[in-house]
Amino acid sequence: MSYASNVAHVEGGSGTFVLPAHSPYDRQMLREHVDMLANRVSALTLGLYGTQWTVTRRPPADSRCTTCAQFLGRLSCSREDEAVASCIDCAMQPRSSAGEERGTL
Ligand SMILES: [Zn+2]
Repeated sequence: MSYASNVAHVEGGSGTFVLPAHSPYDRQMLREHVDMLANRVSALTLGLYGTQWTVTRRPPADSRCTTCAQFLGRLSCSREDEAVASCIDCAMQPRSSAGEERGTL
């Protein structure tokens, strides 16, 4: 049981924010925070559940999430070691069936 895996580190602009990500409510708040921050900085990073995501705004309109296939919308999230993009919903999904463990940072 690691508390560290249940907090999100949002880095962009002037600093790093640490927000809880325990519950669906927490993740809703986190999502709104990321969305707001993405309007102010060109790119930000989201560290969550051991994965580091690069979040960029305004992906091409026809871009789809490689995980759930829905349109990305306003935010595009990509792992630092992969070129594919995921939507913010999938990026914030607690990892349960990912099937593989990434190397630790
Ligand atoms: Zn998705």
